This record gives sequence, structure tokens and C-alpha cells, in this order.
Amino acid sequence: MNVIVIGAGVVGVSTAWYLRQAGCDVTVVERHAAPAEEASYANAGQISPGYAAPWAAPGVPLKAIKWLLSRHAPLRIRPDHSLFQLSWMARMLANCTPTAYARNKSRMVALAEYSRDELRRLRHTLGLQYEARSLGTLQVLRTAPQLAAARRDADLLAGLGVPHALLGVDELAEVEPALARVAHKLVGALHLPNDETGDCRLFTERLAQHAAAAGVVFRYLTEVEQLVVTQGRIREVLLDDGEVFTPDAVVLAAGCTSRALARELGLSLPIYPVKGYSLTLPLADPQSAPRSTVLDETYKIALTRFDARLRVGGMAELAGYDHALDPRRVATLRMVAGDLFPDATDPQQGQAWTGLRPMTPDGAPLVCGTPLRNLFLNTGHGTLGWTMACGSAHVLADLVLGRAPQIDVSGLSLTRYRRTPQAVPQPQGGSRPAHA
Ligand SMILES: Cc1cc2nc3c(=O)[nH]c(=O)nc-3n(C[C@H](O)[C@H](O)[C@H](O)COP(=O)(O)OP(=O)(O)OC[C@H]3O[C@@H](n4cnc5c(N)ncnc54)[C@H](O)[C@@H]3O)c2cc1C
Repeated sequence: MNVIVIGAGVVGVSTAWYLRQAGCDVTVVERHAAPAEEASYANAGQISPGYAAPWAAPGVPLKAIKWLLSRHAPLRIRPDHSLFQLSWMARMLANCTPTAYARNKSRMVALAEYSRDELRRLRHTLGLQYEARSLGTLQVLRTAPQLAAARRDADLLAGLGVPHALLGVDELAEVEPALARVAHKLVGALHLPNDETGDCRLFTERLAQHAAAAGVVFRYLTEVEQLVVTQGRIREVLLDDGEVFTPDAVVLAAGCTSRALARELGLSLPIYPVKGYSLTLPLADPQSAPRSTVLDETYKIALTRFDARLRVGGMAELAGYDHALDPRRVATLRMVAGDLFPDATDPQQGQAWTGLRPMTPDGAPLVCGTPLRNLFLNTGHGTLGWTMACGSAHVLADLVLGRAPQIDVSGLSLTRYRRTPQAVPQPQGGSRPAHA
């Protein structure tokens, strides 16, 4: 079977790997010169099934109002003057009930746990080196309400069988010794010992090398311009260099561009580009740095230890397809790094970055077939795309080959959005990406 994968982010590259392992002839089309040049470039470095949760959570609407007034707010909203932004936010708000949160979280955790296990297998089989660590995540809490919310999350995690522990302030240093100096600022923490960390870009680049060696063809600096539909299936994939493919199947793994590519095919994907920031700092004193990921719940910022660097990442801006680096957001990242790990890094240094998370309003990705018989979606992984990439890729390969996935994926389909369930595909049509 001949498959085109659109996009060489962590999701597209992982998908190509699993499809090739299943015996498919795979071509990955990527508009950049290398893999992982967009959202997968400098993310916060967490493989965190335990922390997998939708941002649409009970209490978030109230918090969002408070954040509007706060200098270091984790969320910013700037109207992009589209109806889509409004409808996406309305859908997100509708998912902030306890019932919706529990349902969405359980879908994300199940996929993320499966995915972490797949990633471990890949790492061992291929000997992948990406500055990986298997030391867990520590979500540090600064207030009593945060502690109460963490207790509720702990109950959900217990129900889902995810190992975790609520730690008191005096226990934090056992997990992260460098926190001993700032324990007085904290009220406790949720420890997720099975989470992992690493550099997502390195992982993606190295997996792409293995995939190429195994026979996957990568077409870099090439953009998919149009998908031509005939009789309910993608008949042709038109590239910007004039080449035309007639594949047996197409996998849309184009991150935030997936929506534009799908739109003119009659498919409405509720994927909004949620901007995040990261700052990568060289370590000045490794003993003063975290050993793994520490997540500051107040600012929703993750601090992840690589070999000789600290990656600080987080924040959400709903502002359309905008990559501008706002120095105030970078200042917040520096502030949190300095507040929790004062001597770990030199505050004058560091490399700042922004990326657009392809995010659905309920948090779970779209890993599914579509009404077009040979078009498959592997996109919308939002806040934890690397965490869910290998599992999603394995599931997608199973779906393309007509095999039953090893986990329940009924909650990852497009049909869960009431207004877009069975979009009727155009008998003839094309899609041209609106956002480069
Ligand atoms: C600040 C920040 C921190 C994060 N932290 C974490 C974390 O700690 N852990 C975690 O698991 N996740 C994290 N994420 C989320 C994660 O990085 C994303 O979910 C993930 O990278 C999405 O991968 P992707 O392959 O779907 O998209 P992308 O990496 O964006 O890849 C899509 C690719 O498709 C290509 N493309 C698009 N359209 C076309 C076209 N028409 N033709 C050819 N190519 C095309 C693009 O060029 C791009 O390379 C974070 C994200 C951000 C922004």
C-alpha cells in the first residue's frame, strides 16, 4: 500500500515509522528543509501521560477572567476577528464541566499511557538518543485550591490506574533536591513517577533518520498544495513542484495547517493554533537544577532538565496564526526559572521560541478515518503531542491497514463534534492551505 503522510512533525514522522513497519510504501511531504521545524521544534520536553489533561477544566472560566488582569498569566486571548476563534472558545467552555473533563482526560491518559509504552519500546529497539530521562514529573503547588484540585486529579488517576503520589512540602526534596531551597513557597506536589522527558526535536530527527534508512521517502522543501477528491476518496495529491501522487491512502499530520487543508474537502476540523513559548537555557550549576520535569501549576510552566540545558516552556495565547515573540512572555519564563531554581542558569542567556499547538477544544486529538475513504487524520494533539505521538501513530497505522487498534479509540474520532459529524465530502474538489 502506497501512503502519503503530510507533515514531518513528531506526529507525521512517528506515523511514517509505524506505517513502514507495517509494510507500507511511505512518502512524507514536508514544506521545511528538515523534520520538527514547527510545533515539535522546542517544546517543553515532557512525556507526561500522568499530566495528560484537557485545558478545558472545571474552574478554568473563572481563572481565565482573573488571568486577564495578571502580568504573568498562563493564558492570553487576543481576538483574531474570526468566527472560528469564537466558536472554538465556546466549545472549549462547554467542555469545562466535571463530567466532560473526566471523559476527555480519560481519553487522553489512555492514549498517552499506550504512547509512552510504545516510545519506550522504540527507544530500546532503535537505541534512540534524545537526552531522555525516566525520572517522572513533579507538579508543584503553591496554593490550597491547587492542592484540592490535585487531590481530585489524583482520584481520577487512581481510577485510570496511573501511578502517582501526593507529596507534602517536606517530601519534595527527595524527588527534586534543588527544590529544598524554595520549599517555603510551596504547599505540596503531585508526583507522577512514570513520566519521562527528553528533546522532542532530537527524537523526531533521529526517528526520521531510522525511517529513511528503513525505506521511507522524505520530500523536504515541498508543500502539498491540493488534495483532489473523486468518488469519495482522495485521488490525487498535488505538490508545489508540480508533481502529482495517486496514493492508496493519505494521512493528514500537518499540525495547525491540517484544518485549512481539510476545509475545502468538506471536513471541519476544530483545531485552533494555541501559541506557546519556550526558553532554553544553558546550565550554570547542574546541582541547582531540576533532575527531571517540574511543573509550576500557578504559571502552567514546565521546567525540564536536558543533559546540559534547562528547557522552560508553557503559556497559551489564542491569537490566530501568529509567531511573534512577545518579550513579556519570555520574561515570565525567566521569572519562573529564577524563582524555583535560582542558581541553575544564567538569567542573561537563553534561546526563546514560540510554537503553535494544534489544539482541539476538548483536548484529545483526532486519530481516525474520515468520510473520505482513504483520508486519515492524525492531528490536533495540542498540549501533549509528543506524549501521544507514538501511540497515535501505531493506532493510525492499524486503522489504515484495517486492523483493530490495541486501545479503544472511539473517543478520538471526528464524529464526537456534533456539528461536524458526517460532513458530506465534495464529489470533486481540492484544498489549498490558507496558512503557510
Ligand atoms: C511551548 C510548547 C510546549 C509544549 N510542550 C510539550 C511537552 O512538554 N510535551 C508534549 O508532549 N507536547 C508538548 N507540546 C505540544 C507538541 O509540541 C505538539 O503537540 C506537537 O509538536 C505537534 O506535532 P505535529 O507533528 O502534530 O505538528 P508540527 O510539529 O507542527 O508538524 C506539522 C508539520 O506539517 C508541515 N506541514 C503543514 N502543512 C503542510 C503542507 N501543506 N505541505 C507540507 N508540509 C506541511 C509543517 O511544516 C510541520 O512541519 C508543546 C507545544 C508548545 C508550543
